[in-house]
Amino acid sequence: MVTAKVWVLKKHFDGFPKTSDFDLKEIELPNLKDGELLLESVFLSVDPYMRPYSQRDMKEGDIMIGTQVARIVESKNSAFAVGAFVLGNKGWRTHFISDGKDLQLLPSSWPESLPRSLALGTVGMPGLTAYFGLLKVCKVKPGETVLVNAAAGAVGSVVGQLAKIWSCKVVGCAGSDDKVAYLKKIGFDEAFNYKTVKSLDEALRKASPDGYDCFFDNVGGEFASVAINQMKKYGRIAVCGAISQYNDTVPQKGPYVQIPMIFKELQMEGFIVSRWKNQWEEGLQALLKWVVEGKMKYQEQVTEGFENMPMAFIGMLKGENLGKAVVKM
Ligand code: NDP
Repeated sequence: MVTAKVWVLKKHFDGFPKTSDFDLKEIELPNLKDGELLLESVFLSVDPYMRPYSQRDMKEGDIMIGTQVARIVESKNSAFAVGAFVLGNKGWRTHFISDGKDLQLLPSSWPESLPRSLALGTVGMPGLTAYFGLLKVCKVKPGETVLVNAAAGAVGSVVGQLAKIWSCKVVGCAGSDDKVAYLKKIGFDEAFNYKTVKSLDEALRKASPDGYDCFFDNVGGEFASVAINQMKKYGRIAVCGAISQYNDTVPQKGPYVQIPMIFKELQMEGFIVSRWKNQWEEGLQALLKWVVEGKMKYQEQVTEGFENMPMAFIGMLKGENLGKAVVKM
């Protein structure tokens, strides 16, 4: 018999999440039946989507939603060998049982030297979000200028590097000078700290006086309201996230988008990465190849210890992460 630790949502978040909104519990797992596997989480992901999705899909007392890289510790299923690593979507748990149908083996071409945690970041859902958002929603073309915010995070850092791989100029912004230095190091043409610039409008204009063809928006709110006015005619805006609004208790008010949308004939499209689920394999192979070739750099903010999951989640929402925020067991 194995005892799993799990984090449950004790109380729905009211504004910014607090550690007291979570509860650590223990669950006795039953013995395995034929066809089942026992898995142990090795790396767990903390992501911004957990904030709005918990509100929409969870009730108090539910185990927190989320994905993990897990190792098979016991198998009564011949398709899965003990010791293999898989991607699971089992929430904040140390151990779990599965029949294997909802698990995804890490690509067989995964090099030994590459951290498996990248399957939660650059070579995982956030990397795919950047890939499909830029390709299918922004419809980016060589020579164009791309703007991305939350640029030093899991999605944003991949957006910027993909834009460079695809021969674009890329402007990024992030919330600390260290993050800005990192963006320049990984090839962003222009980067600035949105928290310290005197005027966001001026900073955007200085970074690209001709404006922007594509805007990959991870933040929404005021940033998006300012940036939309600096789009070029026929520009494309991929509405990926709205992290500046997730913790609002009172909805933010305009300015509204219609005037620049009309006069600049813009396209603005929201998307969820699962739309391209049947093409994920193609995206993962491309991302893995660029990482292995050194064309795509990665950075992770690793928090040690399952007991620190709420802190890692809250820290990520506050911007304490450079690159993908993960928790190592
Ligand atoms: P990140 O790794 O970028 O971490 C979140 C970052 O957001 C923080 O580090 C912080 O960076 C920034 N941030 C927090 N609050 C604010 C704020 N008020 N204003 C501006 N920036 C803020 O997270 P991800 O890369 O995983 O996610 C980025 C965005 O993409 C999120 O909005 C997320 O919901 C969205 N997303 C959407 C998907 C889709 O399918 N549509 C899939 C995956 C993610 P800083 O220091 O720069 O402020």
